[in-house]
Amino acid sequence: MQDDWSLNPNVRKLLQRVPLPISLPTPLRRSAGRTTPNELHGTRAVVTHLRDALDLALAQAVQHAGAAVTVVDAMGETTLTGRIVDGGGQLVPATADLPGGILSAIAQSGATGDRRPVTLIHRVTRPHGNDVAVNESTDALLGVGHAAASLPPNSRLLLVLGHDLRGDSLGGLMTAATQGFMRSAFKELGKSGSTCHLIRAEDAQSAGALAAFLASPRAAFLSGLDLVAQKSLAGDAAEGPALDGKVILVTGAARGIGAAIAERLALEGAHVWINDIAQSEAAAADTVAQIRARGGRAEFVAADVGTLSGAQAIADAIAKGAGRVDGVIHNAGITRDRTLRKMSVAQWRQVLQVNFGAMYLVQNALAPILQPGASMVLMSSVMGIAGNFGQTNYSTSKSAVIELAKQWACDGYGRGLRANAIAPGFILTDMTAQMPVINREMAKQLTAMLQPGLPLDVADLACFLVGAQSRGLTGQVLRCDGGMAFGA
Ligand code: NAD
Repeated sequence: MQDDWSLNPNVRKLLQRVPLPISLPTPLRRSAGRTTPNELHGTRAVVTHLRDALDLALAQAVQHAGAAVTVVDAMGETTLTGRIVDGGGQLVPATADLPGGILSAIAQSGATGDRRPVTLIHRVTRPHGNDVAVNESTDALLGVGHAAASLPPNSRLLLVLGHDLRGDSLGGLMTAATQGFMRSAFKELGKSGSTCHLIRAEDAQSAGALAAFLASPRAAFLSGLDLVAQKSLAGDAAEGPALDGKVILVTGAARGIGAAIAERLALEGAHVWINDIAQSEAAAADTVAQIRARGGRAEFVAADVGTLSGAQAIADAIAKGAGRVDGVIHNAGITRDRTLRKMSVAQWRQVLQVNFGAMYLVQNALAPILQPGASMVLMSSVMGIAGNFGQTNYSTSKSAVIELAKQWACDGYGRGLRANAIAPGFILTDMTAQMPVINREMAKQLTAMLQPGLPLDVADLACFLVGAQSRGLTGQVLRCDGGMAFGA
């Protein structure tokens, strides 16, 4: 699949010479290949607080992943700072609540003119005193915002909320204020390919693992996520996807996003089961051949996921060929776009059955071979959150998928099973190639990053969600949309 025209270097050169009122997107820093232990090599991280175990876990996670860490906390805890300095980091004391404080600390760290991307990790503090509107905690948001807006392209701003903000009205107000800040900040940062997220940290290690992923080039097209990092019953969050020997099913994987996910999982060592309808056999054979040519393991099972017999055929094939399943990417999906006035019963039912009903059928059929700690990824859509003209059937199905992920997460929590939904925005695939050009251009302008995503972006996210690094995430919906303007 080709990149978007606005990222073509020749077109960009031409447009930069002509004074047209066109905003060109920033090329995103992505990463291909198998996950390495130092995904953040060649980047910097700036940590604004180092006072407790959560701060330390966040700083250490990005340091272990290869980022050069600077602590800018003037009141930081010296033992903790010492651990980061021992790991090769540095301390430049400054206060985050002063606009410009962090920037001057970055300058003092000797990194002026350094164009390496920066991950700015800011632990949102609990306000002192009674002024809920203007205090050092809300001022600090402006401080980090000033700094984030001046950072090199492809930087990150990660806002972290800890235990100290839960359980009372002042903490609740600060949490809501931070959400509002984040939702606007990511829209401003997108043009330079930078992103902003909010992490609600219930478990320090899970939060650190999540921060390391969001800081990495694997999360280039994600922005504006509001996630809870919780304690996992399936073991602590660990580095990298670690999928060696895992058996993972990807439905609808002959082409597009599904094929990209299958290829990505195989690259991480998974034994991938590729499902698609029989008519897609040629495309599926191509995907299987590409995986095998790179030394990966893949099998194709032709079946319609929207039927009971199709779901059973998939489960039977995997039971016979592998005897277990460690992860399921419920990806198969279709569109039958019509306005309500023109929507036939067949178009309505087909979309609901393939996009949503099929997930039950496949999951139920796989139940006897589903392994403890298995992770399910359910493909939703931004249209399941925001809705879209002419897509009532599609958004009905994709909205139900989000709720299904939450319910499976609840049901499976005690058994260490996880379920999360991905809501892609505008991704370049055969499905979106059918959109009229004007709609495609409008969709790009609606993203903070002014560009479409690639199947690889969704594949990287799916890979993270079935892997050990995301063990603290379940029952959540992760948009993969370049920071789209609409939807909550
Ligand atoms: P695609 O049309 O390129 O690929 C979908 C695949 O699913 C095809 O290979 C198709 O043959 C297969 N499929 C369809 N019905 C099936 C069935 N009954 N049984 C088995 N396989 C079946 O689509 P894509 O763009 O790669 O989308 C993949 C998923 O991501 C879908 O669920 C889609 O709704 C979702 N999504 C895509 C976008 C985007 O921008 N491309 C955005 C939001 C959500």
